[in-house]
Amino acid sequence: MAKQKIPYHPKAKIICACGNIITTGSTLPEMHVEICAKCHPFYTGKQKLIDTGGRIEKFKKRLAKKEEMEKMGKKKNEEKKSR
Ligand SMILES: [Zn+2]
Repeated sequence: MAKQKIPYHPKAKIICACGNIITTGSTLPEMHVEICAKCHPFYTGKQKLIDTGGRIEKFKKRLAKKEEMEKMGKKKNEEKKSR
């Protein structure tokens, strides 16, 4: 039985969303990452929000809606009590 060849790329590139490229050995010629040691807040020491696809915005909108609903509900309950 012939050995299955696994492709090896000694100069594979890991491309980060920040533009940093890391050259390494890998079975894949190219990889894409969203964060690396060059841009991660832990390494940069800067606090920054990493919002992938506006997920934080969506959550904030949902939270605001929920609070609104709760306020409306409270008003209704108060009306009932006064009767
Ligand atoms: Zn990066």
